[in-house]
Amino acid sequence: MPGKDAPPTTTVVLDRNGLDGLLAALVKKGYRVIGPTARDDAVIYDDIDSPKDLPEGWGDEQKGGHYRLRRRQDKALFGYTVAPQGWKRFLYPPSQKLFGARRTEAGFEIQPPDPPEAPMAFIGVRACELAAMAVQDRVFGDKLYPDTGYQRRRKAAFVVAVECGEAGATCFCSSMGTGPAVVAGFDIKLVELPAKGRFVAEAGSLEGTKLLDKLKAPKASDADCTAAVERVAGITFTKQMNAKTARTLAAKPDHPRWDDVAARCLTCGNCTMVCPTCFCTTVEDVTDLKGDNAERWRKWDSCFSVDFSYIHGGAVRTEVKSRYRQWISHKLSTWHDQFGTSGCVGCGRCITWCPVGIDITEEVRAIDASETTGR
Ligand code: SF4
Ligand code: SF4
Repeated sequence: MPGKDAPPTTTVVLDRNGLDGLLAALVKKGYRVIGPTARDDAVIYDDIDSPKDLPEGWGDEQKGGHYRLRRRQDKALFGYTVAPQGWKRFLYPPSQKLFGARRTEAGFEIQPPDPPEAPMAFIGVRACELAAMAVQDRVFGDKLYPDTGYQRRRKAAFVVAVECGEAGATCFCSSMGTGPAVVAGFDIKLVELPAKGRFVAEAGSLEGTKLLDKLKAPKASDADCTAAVERVAGITFTKQMNAKTARTLAAKPDHPRWDDVAARCLTCGNCTMVCPTCFCTTVEDVTDLKGDNAERWRKWDSCFSVDFSYIHGGAVRTEVKSRYRQWISHKLSTWHDQFGTSGCVGCGRCITWCPVGIDITEEVRAIDASETTGR
């Protein structure tokens, strides 16, 4: 993972004041601090100033096509599973100016690029979200076509991971080998112990170690360390993905299941927008009325739109079934050939935010079952 090294382990305990100190130290170091907040009936990752901005006492309820905040019995600050929108929108913004040009007497002059943004500190990154960042690191680290903006933001980012204490009904990170334990790719890892009102904090990089040392927090006791390990070990999952069948999807272009899912899919593209690894974009040019100033923007796009596959003469994927098949086959199957890993980290967002509740694990299960039964 970029910018991460292997320091001697520092494990301390932080209470609310300690967490406040951690956020203040990050601000002092010049980071823009972004974390979960409860807003608009959802957990939204946004700018935060102190632990007071965190979604204290809020959990969530997720299932196919369903998301609700719910009150928890405790005052956990990170008691939800995953927020609707991941960290992708900060590292790989939905809309980004590539360059601008201005007409001069000598012709068009390319404008200097906008100054780089302040480095960001992400608070509350889950194990599946760390895995998604690692997937995008590969995509945007391509040797021939690197995304330098992504790489700059990613390299500068400080990651405070918070391990999950429970799984949502749409989570299946354990099937994808991406969670729920946080094992790498963080500067600081927190495990919340809601019953005790404190966190076990472990450094995962030199910068994380230095920051924790500055806080002068007490060392974690054996009892706290055991409680932290038991918390994640006790998580159970109701949803699973057959990753082996998933890898074979690209070899089944004519499977009857594609017609079945096409009858339900609205091609709205929600699944691609919330997916923390989807990266397709389109390019749009805009000019002022006089044609003196022009800008080129890159915007998120989706393989579910007809225009996305438009080439000379027309769109290649005109049918709903071909668009759904393209998405799921790339994500679970050909992504391995292209990037050496699955494109799915099991966060479950595409299930929760599909308006008709199409479930990626269920589609794979149905194909798997048809092969077993021959139907
Ligand atoms: S699978 Fe669901 S979220 Fe994705 S395009 Fe179809 S209807 Fe929309
Ligand atoms: S395909 Fe669905 S479950 Fe997998 S990473 Fe994307 S949004 Fe999460």
